[in-house]
Amino acid sequence: MNIHEYQAKAILRDYGCPVSDGRAVLKAENAKTAAGELDGPLWVVKAQIHAGGRGKGSFKEADAGEKGGVRLAKSVEEAAEEAKKMLGRTLVTHQTGPAGKQVNRIYIEDGSDIERELYLALLVDRQTSAVSIVCSTEGGMDIEEVAASTPEKILSFSIEPATGYQPFHGRRVAFALGMEGPQVKQMVQLLDKLYRAFTEKDMEMLEINPLIVMPDGNLKVLDAKVGFDGNALYRHNDIIALRDETEEDPKELAASKYDLNYIALDGEIGCMVNGAGLAMATMDIIKLYGAEPANFLDVGGGATKEKVTEAFKIITSDKNVKGILVNIFGGIMRCDVIAEGVVAAVKEVGLEVPLVVRLEGTNVEKGKEIINTSGLNVIAADNLSDGAEKIVKAVKG
Ligand code: GDP
Ligand code: MG
Repeated sequence: MNIHEYQAKAILRDYGCPVSDGRAVLKAENAKTAAGELDGPLWVVKAQIHAGGRGKGSFKEADAGEKGGVRLAKSVEEAAEEAKKMLGRTLVTHQTGPAGKQVNRIYIEDGSDIERELYLALLVDRQTSAVSIVCSTEGGMDIEEVAASTPEKILSFSIEPATGYQPFHGRRVAFALGMEGPQVKQMVQLLDKLYRAFTEKDMEMLEINPLIVMPDGNLKVLDAKVGFDGNALYRHNDIIALRDETEEDPKELAASKYDLNYIALDGEIGCMVNGAGLAMATMDIIKLYGAEPANFLDVGGGATKEKVTEAFKIITSDKNVKGILVNIFGGIMRCDVIAEGVVAAVKEVGLEVPLVVRLEGTNVEKGKEIINTSGLNVIAADNLSDGAEKIVKAVKG
């Protein structure tokens, strides 16, 4: 689960990390009061969306020459004006995709003077099974671009889980970033706080780009992007409360409410499958026959008729879906339950695209009978490749 920059900064502030004073604004009429509460003489007005690259992004509704989603202002009035301009508009960055994201929240921050922009991140490195600190002197830039053109400028340090963070980790990072004197000590302390926040809050990723060095030599967290491990959210009610549902795919959100493993994709074939492995195989074989899956969906082992109905509704609500493949291997999951769910869902929402059903396993005869006597226009398939071939043919002709 991801959160907004201003929420991430509030967490880091609680851990004692240096961040600027700022105010989140949800309504344009509150922008001036919010800006007025900050000292100045520089204000930064920042669009809050769950995507990076806002500074270099542009608004769909922008006038020629208009700036992106991070704007500097010299007065309270100017800051309020910029906030009003951004609210409700759609910001497109290299991370949002061409559709962009609507800006519903603004963060107005006390502006900082910058001497150097650095990159600092903590993440779970699956290769070393440890938390890694990633740093670079090339902060403020698109880090993927740095990784592609000058990979030697990105350094990574692994933290042994048994010992946790140690001051020597911090000194290594500080020296790698060219720091000297009291700045090294600041870096050691900052990383201690970041590591504590990371592990205590079960973060998956904590990216600070940029971490700045100010003219007085002090460090400050100027941008913060945080993702949390969804499997650990149950023990962090404070984090769950930060969830912004408007930032999430509505189909994925609905699926999560019914405990379905669903991920939206860009293709045209909707898939309903039981078991993650079979779901992956189904996606592969759809591609093999020349089409693209519209989603990954594992209805799980103990799915009820209601859950299957909901899953089917989520698939059909995707306007890109031109055909549906139901591929069930009934083990714990019974074929008749799936069949009942599919029939109930079609009765409720209708069926405007071809539907291929492949059922195998427990209660398969009962399942086939339910489908066959339902009056639905279903194409039956005998096995996985037959099912994939039939749905691709039905969609592509
Ligand atoms: P991003 O584009 O989504 O990564 O947003 P950032 O928060 O990283 O801001 C983009 C850029 O705006 C930074 O790299 C800085 O160069 C600039 N910026 C952000 N905040 C300030 C500030 O307080 N003062 C100054 N001078 N520049 C800032
Ligand atoms: Mg940034």
